[in-house]
Amino acid sequence: MDNAARDARRPKLRVATTSLAGCFGCHMSLLDIDERLFDLVELVDFDRSPLTDIKHCGPCDIGLIEGGVCNAENVHVLREFRRNCKILVAVGACSVNGGLPAQRNHLDVGACLQQVYQYREGVAGAQIPSDPELPLLLDKVRPIHEVVRVDYFVPGCPPSGDALWKFLTDLISGRTPRLSHPMLHYD
Ligand code: SF4
Repeated sequence: MDNAARDARRPKLRVATTSLAGCFGCHMSLLDIDERLFDLVELVDFDRSPLTDIKHCGPCDIGLIEGGVCNAENVHVLREFRRNCKILVAVGACSVNGGLPAQRNHLDVGACLQQVYQYREGVAGAQIPSDPELPLLLDKVRPIHEVVRVDYFVPGCPPSGDALWKFLTDLISGRTPRLSHPMLHYD
């Protein structure tokens, strides 16, 4: 049986994706696989993702997490993904080590909020937003492995489309993902 016939007989895997404290750049990089997106949707169905309208992550084979953890809602979403995804992947520098948003970690979060919301010139009577609907910030931005167990880390800010394609097709085919040296970078 050739590869195409074998893939056609294989049940589709279910993939969920989310952006926590990310910039959506890693999702843009996923879209950078360009026409291979047609091949991808033959191989997988998407569950919760910024690319779908599904609000909660259901049982999935693979969860791709962009972004670190900066607020209470991020923690909630990340735990939901961990509960439901057999394989959880940290995608991109923010998810792997906190990334650029973690540069706020040497600052006091209360002082940051005051600086942005209260002390800005030209905004009279401004207050720090306190509606209970808004998620509270954590004191530090955390990589996701400090909150849940992570199965794979894909570095890069963002990882290239080619790296994400290689990683996903390895995983979907049941191979241990291996990225060549040129595909591994941290910037
Ligand atoms: S790793 Fe880079 S591209 Fe990905 S979410 Fe973070 S800042 Fe954006």
